[in-house]
Amino acid sequence: MNVYDSEQISRVLTPLGYEITPSPGAADLIIVNTCAIRGKAEQKAFSFIGRLAGLKRKKPDLIIGVGGCVAQQEGRKILEKMRYIDLVFGTQALNRLPGHVKDIATRRCRIADIEMAPEIIEFPPGAPIVNGNITRFVTIMRGCDNYCAYCVVPFVRGREISREPENIINEIKGLVKTGVQEVTLLGQNVNSYGKKEGLCSFSALLKLVNKIEGLFRIRFTTSHPKDLSDELIFAFRDLEKLCSHIHLPVQSGSNSVLKRMNRKYTKELYLDRIDKLRKVSPDIAITSDIIVGFPGETDKDFAETLDLVRKVEFDSLFTFEYSDRTNAPAAHFSGKIPDKEKNERLRMLLELQKYYNAKRNLALVGTTELILVDGFSKKQSPVNGQNGFSGVQWTGRTSTNKIVNFVDANTLSGDDNLMGNRIDVIIEKAFSHSLWGRPVNVKPMPLRVKGEESYAA
Ligand code: SAH
Ligand code: SF4
Repeated sequence: MNVYDSEQISRVLTPLGYEITPSPGAADLIIVNTCAIRGKAEQKAFSFIGRLAGLKRKKPDLIIGVGGCVAQQEGRKILEKMRYIDLVFGTQALNRLPGHVKDIATRRCRIADIEMAPEIIEFPPGAPIVNGNITRFVTIMRGCDNYCAYCVVPFVRGREISREPENIINEIKGLVKTGVQEVTLLGQNVNSYGKKEGLCSFSALLKLVNKIEGLFRIRFTTSHPKDLSDELIFAFRDLEKLCSHIHLPVQSGSNSVLKRMNRKYTKELYLDRIDKLRKVSPDIAITSDIIVGFPGETDKDFAETLDLVRKVEFDSLFTFEYSDRTNAPAAHFSGKIPDKEKNERLRMLLELQKYYNAKRNLALVGTTELILVDGFSKKQSPVNGQNGFSGVQWTGRTSTNKIVNFVDANTLSGDDNLMGNRIDVIIEKAFSHSLWGRPVNVKPMPLRVKGEESYAA
């Protein structure tokens, strides 16, 4: 969501004559877009902002703005604590940003704007940020009404509000015209898209997006298990552009923790949804978020989480140690878990998940996967070409969102650009977080793999 917002920030500032520069030292204006989801993210933001003080001393005309969730949460306090910051703007002030920047540039004033607006902000269609992008995010709704006990989002992003389907479709059509082939639809809880406003359902929106000509793939995030309807599950079977991957955060496997988290589902309901997803779409990749050390989490609760992980066999997991957040009710819950215990539970969870990452990735060795090429790296290729080839290594994703790296015979000479190509690749090796493949039209080459642990049989 922050990536998407950062794109909107650069878009609204372009008409003022600003353009992106690669280094903060070269900038006339620095905008820091912050995240407040966990304590660590907030600390990172403040330590980055702290390092900007030196730049301001060297260049007094430099304008420094702080936006995003930390800005929304802290407001004026940031201006009071850090005299070198000129602007603090909240999550719903993006459309007022150009006016603020103009005012500061002309009058050298300092501004804090954290006003929340009940309506959704629509940006006029504009030029793409980066030409040649293959895959982009598109926000379909903002805010959240779920109030999970640990979460800061409802307080810093405001009430849940959905965009009109027409605006979303037009935005995607515009992106497709610039070469975008894949979109990821974003919302904190996409399953409740449009419900409050009486717009169409999320599944109906997916059907509309599926019809967009020239678009190749659709992804979305995040789904809340309590609202995962059968209609949405069937979309994985019926919509050819919808990728075979769902990110379905479970947070915990213990019903008592889930209840205190205010998640409004049980372990049994979650397992039932997984069962149904796999029946309807057998190849679907399933990923999730888990929090360890929520206040009051006992060894028995944690064992329930490990049990759920064993039962589901996730393709991969994002795991977090619980951290107190301002305003979130759990900050006042008793039974806080010591850091040492949280570290230990996280270690055990990661250890267990490592096995399933490997197992799920290994199952793909020998299969042919269609990938969309979306990047490259110039790092040493693991292929023993003649003369120790070290050239472009391409990377793409499968429909199941797995990263596949490969080299292509034609690109060995460096004269072919594969960005945006859709290529059939035979999976030759599995690693914990990626796969190594060979395009079907390329002869096998011996592998020399360094670094990441390989799971090939
Ligand atoms: N809307 C999404 C989650 C957004 S936040 C959903 O409902 O699933 C992304 C993840 O951060 C959450 O799924 C949760 O696992 C983690 N998270 C949120 N608040 C946290 C906190 N206070 N401490 C630790 N992890 C947290
Ligand atoms: Fe936070 Fe829960 Fe909303 Fe997700 S659904 S953003 S975890 S309050």
